[in-house]
Amino acid sequence: MDALSRSLPALLAVVVLLAGCGEPEPEPIPHLDLILLRGTVVDGTGAPGRVEDVGVLDGRIAAMGDLSEATADERIDVTGLTVAPGFIDMHSHAELTEDYGRDARPFLAQGITTVVMGVDGGGTHEVGARLRSWADEGIGVNALTYVGHGHVRREVMGMDDRAPTPEELDAMRALVRRGMEEGALGLSSGLFYTPGFYATTDEVIELGLVASEWEDAIYDTHDRDLGATYQGVGYDASVAEGIQIGAESGLRVIFSHFNPQGATNRGRADVGIALIEDARLRGLEVAAAQHPYTATQSNLRAYALPRWAAAGGPDAIARRFADRDTSRILQRQIVESLAMRGGPDKILFADADPRLNGKTLAQVVAEWGSSVPRTVERILRENGNATVMNLELYDAENTRLLARQPWMMTCTDGRTPAEGQTVTHPRVYGAFPQKMRMYALDSDDISVALAVRSMSGLAADFLRLEDRGRLAPGSWADIAVIDLLTYRSSATYTDPHRYADGVRHLLVNGTFAIRDGEFIDARAGMALRNGGTPVSPAASATP
Ligand SMILES: [Zn+2]
Repeated sequence: MDALSRSLPALLAVVVLLAGCGEPEPEPIPHLDLILLRGTVVDGTGAPGRVEDVGVLDGRIAAMGDLSEATADERIDVTGLTVAPGFIDMHSHAELTEDYGRDARPFLAQGITTVVMGVDGGGTHEVGARLRSWADEGIGVNALTYVGHGHVRREVMGMDDRAPTPEELDAMRALVRRGMEEGALGLSSGLFYTPGFYATTDEVIELGLVASEWEDAIYDTHDRDLGATYQGVGYDASVAEGIQIGAESGLRVIFSHFNPQGATNRGRADVGIALIEDARLRGLEVAAAQHPYTATQSNLRAYALPRWAAAGGPDAIARRFADRDTSRILQRQIVESLAMRGGPDKILFADADPRLNGKTLAQVVAEWGSSVPRTVERILRENGNATVMNLELYDAENTRLLARQPWMMTCTDGRTPAEGQTVTHPRVYGAFPQKMRMYALDSDDISVALAVRSMSGLAADFLRLEDRGRLAPGSWADIAVIDLLTYRSSATYTDPHRYADGVRHLLVNGTFAIRDGEFIDARAGMALRNGGTPVSPAASATP
C-alpha cells in the first residue's frame, strides 16, 4: 500500500468536511404518503397560483416543488385544478356535538377544514370538556372555540336586565378565566342578543381584561346593533363600541358577519370600513369576517321582541303579554321592530316546526287568522322561540365593497340543519363558493389568490395558527383541491340542502375527507386549543 492509499480515508474525510462547509445539500425527500401532482398551488399568502407538486407525510405537508423524483404510496394528478389551504370558517355554528352535525359535511363540501365556534357570546366556559368531547367523538373539521359573554352572564345572572353586583362580576370573571385556562381563543359577545344586550360596554371590557391576560387573545363581536336593532344604538355607534372594547381591554377584535343592516344603511358600508381603518392606523388589530348573502338567520324572539320584554325569560314574557297595558305597548313595538327588518313578508321560518317551516310570518299570520303581534306571541308561547331568516336585510353592494378590504375574512355563520329544517339558510352549504364566485370568478372585485387568502391564510394569521391556513412544508395537510370551473353553490332559500360542487379532494390533517368528489366521513378533524395545540382523544392518552 503506497502513501497515497494509506492517506485516502483521511483525504475523503477532508472532502466530506469541505462539502459540509459549502452549499447545504437539499434534504433528501423521504418516501411520502401522497403526492398531488402538477396542481395550481394558491398557497393562502395572497401570492398568485403556480404549478407545483405537494407531498404529504404523517398528516403534514412534507415537501413542495418538483417532486417528480420522489416516491410515494400514492400519486394523484391534479393538473388544471387549484390546490389551496383548507378553508377556515371564522364564525360557525357547525353542530359538532350533535350526531347529525359531527361529520360537518355541508362545510367540508365547500372546502372548509377548520371552524371557529362559541361565537355570538354563546361559547361555554367548560372549554376543556367541549374540546375533549370533540376529540373523543371525532369531528369532520378542526375546531376552536371562544368563551362567550352571553353564556357567562346567563350562568351567573340568568336573563336579568340589570348591572351585575361586584360579586356577580367576579363570578363572571372566574368563568371567563376558566374558559381561557382551558384553551379558549378569547371572549365572544352577542350584545344584540339577550342577555348580552343587558350588559354595558364597561361590563364587557371588565371581562375582556381577564381574557387579555392570555397573549394574543381575541374579542369576537356580534354587534349590539348592526343597523336593525329596535331601540338600539345604531350601526356607527355599535362598531365604535366593538373597537372600544378591544382597545380598553387589550384584545384584538374581529367583527362577526360584518355588514350594516336595514333600509337606512344601504350604501353605508364605507362608514364601518372607515372606523376599522382608523382603529388599525392607531395600532389596534381590528378585522372582520363576512358571508355574501343578503339574508340573516337567527330567531323570532331576537327579531320581533323588544329587549326589555325578553328580560327574565319565558314566564316573564308570558306575564307581559297577559297584562293588558303592557301587552298594548308590546304589540305596537313588535310591529315597529319587524318594520325595521322589512316587515312580516321578509321573515321566513327555518324552524323544524312543520307548521312554520318554509312560510313567511305574513303567511302564518294569514293562515292562523290572527294579528302579527298575536301570532308572534303564540309562537313564542307554544315553541319558546323559532328559527327564522330575515330576507334582504343586507345590501349586496355593501357586501361587495366589504369583500375588497384586506382585513376581511370569510365565514358561513351557518348552522347545520336538524331534521325537519327543510328550509334553512343556504349559507351553511354555500357561503365560501358563493363568495368566490361573486367576487373573484364572476367579477373582478378581488383575485382568486386574495379570495383564497380571505378564506385561509388571513384567518390563520389572525388566529395565530402557525401551521394551518397556508400551503408550506411543515404545515398540517389541510388541503382543498378545487375545480374552479365548477366550484359553486346551488343551495337556495327555498331549496337549501345541496352540497357545494367543485371540491374534488379535501384532506383534513392529511386524511381524505372528500375523495373524487365523494365524502369519506373520516372525522379527521382535531379539537384545537388557542394557538392550535391539538387535544388528544382520551382513547389514545396514556392512562
Ligand atoms: Zn352572529
